[in-house]
Amino acid sequence: MNHERSGDLYDRALSVMPGGVNSSVRAAIEPYPPFAERGEAGHLIDADGNRYVDWVMGLGPLLLGHDLPEQVQSEIQRQASAGPMYGMPTEIEVEHAEFVARHVPSVEMIRFVNSGTEATVSATRLARGYTGRNKIVVMQGSYHGANDSTLVEGDIDERGPSTQGIPTEFAEHTIPVPFNDPEAATEAFEEHGDDIAAVLVEPILANKGIVHPVDGYHETLRDLCDDYGSLLIWDEVITGFRVGGLGCAQSKFGIEPDVTTFGKIIGGGFPVGAIGGKSEIISQFTPSGDVFQAGTFSGHPVTMAAGLETLRFAAENDVYEHVNSLGEKLREGLTEIVRERAPEYTVAGTDSLFKLIFTRNGPENVADTCSGGCQQNESCARFDYCPKTGADVAAAETDRWRRRFWPAMKEQGVFLSQNQFESQFVSYGHTEADVEETLDAYREVL
Ligand code: PMP
Repeated sequence: MNHERSGDLYDRALSVMPGGVNSSVRAAIEPYPPFAERGEAGHLIDADGNRYVDWVMGLGPLLLGHDLPEQVQSEIQRQASAGPMYGMPTEIEVEHAEFVARHVPSVEMIRFVNSGTEATVSATRLARGYTGRNKIVVMQGSYHGANDSTLVEGDIDERGPSTQGIPTEFAEHTIPVPFNDPEAATEAFEEHGDDIAAVLVEPILANKGIVHPVDGYHETLRDLCDDYGSLLIWDEVITGFRVGGLGCAQSKFGIEPDVTTFGKIIGGGFPVGAIGGKSEIISQFTPSGDVFQAGTFSGHPVTMAAGLETLRFAAENDVYEHVNSLGEKLREGLTEIVRERAPEYTVAGTDSLFKLIFTRNGPENVADTCSGGCQQNESCARFDYCPKTGADVAAAETDRWRRRFWPAMKEQGVFLSQNQFESQFVSYGHTEADVEETLDAYREVL
């Protein structure tokens, strides 16, 4: 494959943008990232005209793939040509809010913002304002965006900011605990319970693996929050309107969080975030409450049109059946390949999420390889070796994945997420042929 034009563009980008990109993960690929030119259904065409089967899908928002259906396109264009925005409320915001409240069990009211980051920043402020407490419990290795309250590493005893630029004191208020460890969460509450405003957790760690919850883990967090008067915030920026369909992961797992953060799909490919939950809590945002929250672009009409029409299209068509069945085929196919070629690696995912994790947690030649997507069921023969925490996944063979595997897959025409720990996404634009081509590439490269 020729990558000359991407190389030239990257050289120019490096002079005017830090690291040549506007979001860190895009530069994870050496020597330079392919620059996107356009998308077609489940495919991406780069600046040199190379075509890839694309499993990044905008890092999650493009549930319908790169070709938006006619009804979505025309609504986007209608809103764009009528405005594009006003700094005044619009009917489409109300309709979108009503749609989400109708489909997501725990959401009665919603505030739209412009990114997943803004959603988690606002949700933590809301929880602190609502409870009058300061501390937030998060999962080690989880990602909730570029949020000063969650960019924290360490544990309950010793912790600090995970990046330059955040005062050390901030980390005092954020307690990282290992995912899937009910004892650690209980200990955090026993020690700090009266000052814990919220637990902020993804239903499935989708930026660190993927790591599935073990049976009963989310129930424990729900109970701890109830016992101590803290809020349970589910970050469904990735899982929202993907895992569990229109009811989101909370309907699949049967847990009712107090607050949910959304992003990605809810904006249909345009910048978005949202904070939803019980009216009593969400109405604490200004102007009805005292927790300040505002944004020039919040509830942007073009975003609202793209998000709402995407979800309406998904409600009226076989979108979830399609993406989930291709997801299943990918996980099953990968399981076969891994059994043959790399039995220590783990296939993870559910619904339309899939990932092959380069872990070596088990003994060298585990007889039972990962069956993929068992969702941490203890009856799985490989349960003991399956990654359960962010740390288990962090020990994966990142260099092998990044320097050898990812580039070789790209040369085979398959574009995987640039970070070993980030999920990959099936869209309505993908086909069985895309799955076959992808599995052939995995077989060859592994
Ligand atoms: N929460 C989760 C779970 C995410 O995966 C992400 C981004 N991938 C964010 C929050 C931040 O969203 P954004 O990049 O839109 O700010």
